[in-house]
Amino acid sequence: MAGEDITLHGRLAPVDWPGIEAFARLMSDFARVHVTPDHVVTVSMDAGAITLRWAAGAADIRLQARDQSAAQNLRDTLGHLLDSAVDGLAAGLSWPTMTEGALPPNFRLATVEASTRLSPNFLRLRLRADDLGFMARTGLHLRLLQPKDPANPVWPRLSATGRTVWPDSGLLHMPVYTIRAIDAASGWLDVDIYLHGRGRTCAWAKAARPGDPVGISGPGGGWLPKGAHLVLGGDETALPVIGRILSEAAPDTIGRAVIAVTNLDDRQEISGPPGVQIDWLGPQDRPKLATTFDAIASTALSGTEAVQVLFGGERLEADHLRHTLRKRFHPSVQRVAVATYWRADTNA
Ligand SMILES: Cc1cc2nc3c(=O)[nH]c(=O)nc-3n(C[C@H](O)[C@H](O)[C@H](O)COP(=O)(O)OP(=O)(O)OC[C@H]3O[C@@H](n4cnc5c(N)ncnc54)[C@H](O)[C@@H]3O)c2cc1C
Repeated sequence: MAGEDITLHGRLAPVDWPGIEAFARLMSDFARVHVTPDHVVTVSMDAGAITLRWAAGAADIRLQARDQSAAQNLRDTLGHLLDSAVDGLAAGLSWPTMTEGALPPNFRLATVEASTRLSPNFLRLRLRADDLGFMARTGLHLRLLQPKDPANPVWPRLSATGRTVWPDSGLLHMPVYTIRAIDAASGWLDVDIYLHGRGRTCAWAKAARPGDPVGISGPGGGWLPKGAHLVLGGDETALPVIGRILSEAAPDTIGRAVIAVTNLDDRQEISGPPGVQIDWLGPQDRPKLATTFDAIASTALSGTEAVQVLFGGERLEADHLRHTLRKRFHPSVQRVAVATYWRADTNA
């Protein structure tokens, strides 16, 4: 789906040229940066482009992005990195067309449309919201925003300088979930909630009824891996992203998926390319998830094909795998995405 191509105009004042140069140096670590002799800085990233045109103690700013959500990501990045370059620099940002206190453009107030029990410990919630197109491209994940007091919800808001201000986590619970399926034209998306037993989201999801409100913000995280050879793995929390990736993969995709479940009845039918083999590890083999995945991913990465590796699971497993795979396959680091999806309590 094509974006809308948004341009935002803003201003940064006061700012001296060394401040802009410090920002450009910082950005060049992870974006393409071009600086001209007449004091124009252009930063190009996946999300879009930032142009700063400096003269006489002020900079005119232009943000170009594919949609409102990406434009807000750029605005948040700009504010954060200006402050990282020179403490307090972002305080001089202003955006004439923005209203302080407005809801961020990548936020939607959704309602629960339906709740379906998929298996003993999985619940699928269908959420309905307007104008969801931006959630269907560039990112597989969202934040499910649950106010502590649903009768008086506190949502993220835009600050005077255009940045997203998040409420205290005590007022708004904001865990990350995968967009398991989305039909933006029809105005719905599905999230699959693993009922691990102790979470606030588990309790909320079990009690959720059609019409209940919930905030959603995103999208974030990586996009669908493009490789012709996929190696996917993780525990129940990664089952939705593995399901989404395989359901949207090209029919000739090959590879393996390894998914650990504490209860074998939580296995799901995953429709995907026939060339991707899915292995389920039950409670006995669950402790072997990281080593099993490591072996499969290492064999694939040692080959010559365009392999993409994705793993999501508990922090210790993810940290270990990320470290070993990156050390062993350093030149292929961009083909390896290993992420912490949840953290076990250290004092549990
Ligand atoms: C990119 C990404 C995508 C994700 N996608 C999904 C998804 O689609 N579906 C999904 O169910 N989860 C998903 N998760 C994991 C989810 O965000 C966490 O499990 C989160 O902690 C759930 O919030 P909660 O409110 O249930 O629990 P919290 O309030 O965050 O935690 C409460 C307690 O539950 C424990 N806990 C949290 N998760 C687990 C678990 N899996 N097993 C055992 N104990 C746990 C914590 O240690 C803590 O003690 C994803 C995470 C990431 C980073």
